Amino acid sequence: MQEKGLLIVLSGPSGVGKGTVRKEIFSQPDVEFEYSISMTTRPPREGEVDGVDYFFKTRQEFEELIKQGKLLEYAEFVGNYYGTPIDYVEETLNAGKDVFLEIEVQGARQVREKFPDGLFIFLMPPSLSELKNRIVTRGTETEEVINNRLTVAKEEIEMMSLYDYVVENDRVELAVERIKAIVIAEHCRRERVEHRYKKMLEVEK
Ligand code: 5GP
Repeated sequence: MQEKGLLIVLSGPSGVGKGTVRKEIFSQPDVEFEYSISMTTRPPREGEVDGVDYFFKTRQEFEELIKQGKLLEYAEFVGNYYGTPIDYVEETLNAGKDVFLEIEVQGARQVREKFPDGLFIFLMPPSLSELKNRIVTRGTETEEVINNRLTVAKEEIEMMSLYDYVVENDRVELAVERIKAIVIAEHCRRERVEHRYKKMLEVEK
């Protein structure tokens, strides 16, 4: 029987740089996991391509997908829906390939419930002041919105206890190296591999 792939979930507070880290991971030739393209109701940003960056859906289409149970998880973030298509994830894992999700924390919590033995990695800002800098430089938000976002980010950081590993995003290249090392280590974890060797011993008895 084909051994299943590993479900890798990268999450962390808003503004920490999850998207940048994910893009850097998938620009590397030695990375063998498959990126699960999310669905969203957010309009495409300039340069974004349907089916590459996201599957862009209307609210009505998205709500239909929810009803049909087609999403592994979903969340509403800044007024738009985001969700992970369940069929792609299951088919890819069943084919023995690792699947990589880059999602916000509410969604990650739902995935933890459905896939408790997934690999959950929390991306952490080096400091709150750094996070504030990133939120401020990203947009033209008012002081009030920025403070709200920071309050939410602090609450999101408290969700760290649901994760297996914490990776600081001090520098993108370093964060990527740490994530790749964690995935390699996870594949060698005794609980994941021992059945294989037990079988080997039985055959050789
Ligand atoms: P953006 O609009 O900047 O592309 O993404 C906004 C947030 O949505 C990011 O924190 C990103 O990680 C998160 N996100 C992207 N896809 C999904 C998804 O499928 N599910 C959930 N829960 N969050 C997602």
